[in-house]
Amino acid sequence: MKASRFLKVLKLTKTTLSEYKNWGEGEIYKAKKIVNNQTYSSDNDNDKEILQNDISVSEPQAKYSSIQSQPSQDTGKTLEALKEKLKNCKDCPLGEHRLNCVFGEGDSNAKLMFIGEGPGYDEDHQGRPFIGRAGQLLTKIIEAMGYQRQEVYITNIVKCHPMKEANPELRSNDRPPLPEETSKCKKYLDMQIDIIKPKIIITLGAPSSKTLLNSEKTISDLRGEFFTYNGITLMPTYHPAALLRNPSLKKPVWEDMKKVIKFLKEKGFSR
Ligand code: SF4
Repeated sequence: MKASRFLKVLKLTKTTLSEYKNWGEGEIYKAKKIVNNQTYSSDNDNDKEILQNDISVSEPQAKYSSIQSQPSQDTGKTLEALKEKLKNCKDCPLGEHRLNCVFGEGDSNAKLMFIGEGPGYDEDHQGRPFIGRAGQLLTKIIEAMGYQRQEVYITNIVKCHPMKEANPELRSNDRPPLPEETSKCKKYLDMQIDIIKPKIIITLGAPSSKTLLNSEKTISDLRGEFFTYNGITLMPTYHPAALLRNPSLKKPVWEDMKKVIKFLKEKGFSR
């Protein structure tokens, strides 16, 4: 191995080892293996059992909402044009009090797309998705999967801050988006998906999972199983904010992410 490559691997491993405090010894061991091998493998019996299980892709549950295909030659420019268009969107009441329309960020040709529920206080103020405490945890999850945050695409089911009180300067003022808000904003998410064409979508939490899967099931019932949405494989899992409230959810989320890594590897989409 060349010295520069060795140093890069060493740096990545060091970064991943810093996840130890958050993910536990077992998880960091697995994450380290991903970084070193660029693929998922494990010597742990439990993991072998998980890896030996077939991943069943359920029948599509979500209805395809027809959207115009965007030219794929320059997805970055097409995404920017859509972002510009949404800057002043007032299609739903959330547009009235937000500070920023938080469109999303990441690689316009990303293989992985993460979809949360909506911007919070920090995101509304800075115009970027997942930058608060939950966002920092999401970044750690992405890195533990062997990716950098800028290599994936991150957005939400609604682009504007759903607030309990119509005051963007209040903290602890977040609420889940209402169905009428998600239904208004979903067409823009569909356009993003159509432009980016990810290999897999990971929905974070109930609002995005239930909306895209057109399901009334709880996130506990939906998570950990593969679905398809508009022909794209979709894995629902818990929202990072739920992990902050209840750290015991880290383990099932990591189990779900291992399935995603295995899927990408088996389909030849891993890095
Ligand atoms: S949440 Fe979506 S639909 Fe509503 S105003 Fe913002 S961008 Fe428009």
